[in-house]
Amino acid sequence: MNSTPDMRGIGMTSQRTRERLVQRLAQEGIASGDVLQAIRNTPRHIFMDEALASRAYEDVSLPIGHGQTISQPYTVARMTEALLAARPLRKVLEVGTGSGYQTAVLAQLVGEVYSVERIRALQAQARTRLASLRVSNVHYKYSDGSWGWPEEAPYDGIIVTAAPMETPQSLLEQLAVGGRLVIPTGGSREQQLLLYVRTSDGFEREELHKVRFVALRGGRE
Ligand code: SAM
Repeated sequence: MNSTPDMRGIGMTSQRTRERLVQRLAQEGIASGDVLQAIRNTPRHIFMDEALASRAYEDVSLPIGHGQTISQPYTVARMTEALLAARPLRKVLEVGTGSGYQTAVLAQLVGEVYSVERIRALQAQARTRLASLRVSNVHYKYSDGSWGWPEEAPYDGIIVTAAPMETPQSLLEQLAVGGRLVIPTGGSREQQLLLYVRTSDGFEREELHKVRFVALRGGRE
């Protein structure tokens, strides 16, 4: 992400609280210097309503309207780290643009982000916020992302920020060989974060840790 005036013009207080968040994530086990730097660079307070902005650098998920949430920074960092672990990623699909915060972190670390959102109002807001940060390597689609974005497949990485009961086959099929899919799956109370890696003859699957996400829903709003 470019260091634009918008990115810099956040004041020292915000910079200090952001640094405290980064230190906390490092203590909690986020080891990737690139991911920590992307979190440090990203003004999370612009991805939420002003009324909640004073809590932007707490390590918590917060409401963004429409029954949805901006993800907890630890979860954003952990999922991004899992996605990036093996190699540089040229093309990444994100299912669930939401506030655009995870998108902004990803856009600094990969070539192109293809981001799908099923709630039109959230997508429009995220697009405006990312444009204000001069993020230019994100492509947007208003759609049910359970089906992925097949026209642009294959992807080196896929990240899903809402939880289906089971991993959609269509997303697995859109991974390139060597590509990685990070997805929470399971019921409404708690889910298992899963990492799939596509090999030349199938998929490897690893359970990462427990998470709490909103449900992946069908259709559009
Ligand atoms: N990473 C986002 C952030 O930090 O703001 C997380 C947003 S929230 C936890 C999950 C998002 O997934 C919501 O915006 C929701 O509308 C979206 N979503 C749920 N089901 C979807 C689907 N089938 N296709 C696309 N987006 C979906």
